[in-house]
Amino acid sequence: MSETRLGIDTWPDREDSSDYREWPIRQHLNRITMKRGMKVVVEAFPPETKERYLGLISPDGTIYINEDVPNWFKPFVLAHELGHLQLHANLDMTLYYSDKQMQRRVEAEADAFSKRLYKWVRWRMYGLD
Ligand SMILES: [Zn+2]
Repeated sequence: MSETRLGIDTWPDREDSSDYREWPIRQHLNRITMKRGMKVVVEAFPPETKERYLGLISPDGTIYINEDVPNWFKPFVLAHELGHLQLHANLDMTLYYSDKQMQRRVEAEADAFSKRLYKWVRWRMYGLD
């Protein structure tokens, strides 16, 4: 669903490992999506959406991640989209597209969800905040 708008202030810190596939957040996200049988696809977005969307949720629940998103940032986009699924399942999309203020609020909520998930995984792994 929806546009993933991210200001630079919402970006997570880069994690240390050089191989992003081993990051705890990514492994945690893999567990969540596999357990729920969710499909996550990284692919090239069509030219008209390429610039505007980092991630999308299709009506069948498949999460698409724009392949142009840097690898280190893809987990954040995935967690953001999971936030939409968790928080905005009953969102009126007509209203969403017509109300800029609502869009900003909804996107900020998904960003906050993603950040909380990062924080929680970090805390669980390292006992750090
Ligand atoms: Zn979004």
